[in-house]
Amino acid sequence: MFTQINPELKNYNTIKIGGHVQTMFWPTSKVEIIKAILTCKKDNLPFVFLAGGSNTVFPDEDLDYNQAVINLSKFDQVDFLLNDQGILITAKAGTELQTLIDLSLEQGSGTMVGLNRVPGSIGGAIVGNAGAYGTEIKDIVTVVKAIRRSDILKIDLESFILSNEQIPLYTLTNLDCHFTYRHSEFKNDLDWIVLEIELFCPFSSDIVADQKRYDEIATKRDAVYPKGFASPGSLFKNILFSDLTAEQQAKIPQGWVVYGNKLPVGRLLEELGLKGHSIGGIKMTDRHPNIMLNYNQASFDDAQAMVKFLQQRVKEEFGIEITPEVRFLPNNFGEFR
Ligand SMILES: Cc1cc2nc3c(=O)[nH]c(=O)nc-3n(C[C@H](O)[C@H](O)[C@H](O)COP(=O)(O)OP(=O)(O)OC[C@H]3O[C@@H](n4cnc5c(N)ncnc54)[C@H](O)[C@@H]3O)c2cc1C
Repeated sequence: MFTQINPELKNYNTIKIGGHVQTMFWPTSKVEIIKAILTCKKDNLPFVFLAGGSNTVFPDEDLDYNQAVINLSKFDQVDFLLNDQGILITAKAGTELQTLIDLSLEQGSGTMVGLNRVPGSIGGAIVGNAGAYGTEIKDIVTVVKAIRRSDILKIDLESFILSNEQIPLYTLTNLDCHFTYRHSEFKNDLDWIVLEIELFCPFSSDIVADQKRYDEIATKRDAVYPKGFASPGSLFKNILFSDLTAEQQAKIPQGWVVYGNKLPVGRLLEELGLKGHSIGGIKMTDRHPNIMLNYNQASFDDAQAMVKFLQQRVKEEFGIEITPEVRFLPNNFGEFR
């Protein structure tokens, strides 16, 4: 398995923040993922998983003394089957989401078009139930196959290599994944490692209209996120209006709620005059105040300070707690996490 020593993490996430780490493993199969984990166990290295790095901020001091990253981007294989009704896609977790969107459209389904240009892997999209333009991954997934760290950590590298010991493989249905807004069972319980996903995309009745929508979304998103833009996308999760108390709801003008029940955090930040607000090298964009940009060699601390500041302002003004969508990894990855 390809293994990198001392890579700089800012080269592997979209916000371009992160110091060096001791080792980065690049497994291409389930066996290699297990071997990477057991090597971390043997060398006493806490580890985290990473794929597209489009939702993750790493600490910027060097972590080279005792940390590892298992990068799933090369664990990326796709197969598909057509039946009378649509396309059954099977993809390994590191496969780029965009590959699946393009494949399903080419084969006659517009089911995934709303997700056009959402960066990252299908595994990352499952973990965070990625969504855009009214489509969420939860609407398309039929089955997720996963393994558990705790099962793997019960054995040692040597015995795994010698005896080829079997690690339990769990098959979760869509319901078992407990998808909710930007959340899933896999975010709830970090013991899970998502390996393979099955998706079903019914054929479209109007593929020309789907292609048009695909192009329109691409144009809109390319304007918001130009090439080379160092950002993890939206910083905070939007709010479900129905989750607010009557007192909180009373402070929100009706026109701010979209798609029936979604209150965009960007709308609250805009009201507070926070478009373009900056702290250190981090800036909330002039166009969308919920989109965080590393515009000038920002640090992990700048990004965290921005989170705290915005949370405090929204709490003061609207009495609402806002929660980051982006994952900030602590200085210590945590033991075997
Ligand atoms: C410009 C831009 C626009 C964006 N727009 C959207 C949007 O419209 N909608 C949206 O929902 N998101 C959006 N995002 C966020 C991001 O694209 C999604 O969250 C994406 O699904 C993350 O996938 P990833 O592979 O990059 O995850 P990573 O950042 O690599 O990982 C995210 C988390 O998942 C864990 N993880 C990854 N793979 C696995 C696995 N196989 N098993 C277990 N854990 C795993 C990681 O440990 C990490 O905690 C945007 C991001 C950017 C940069």
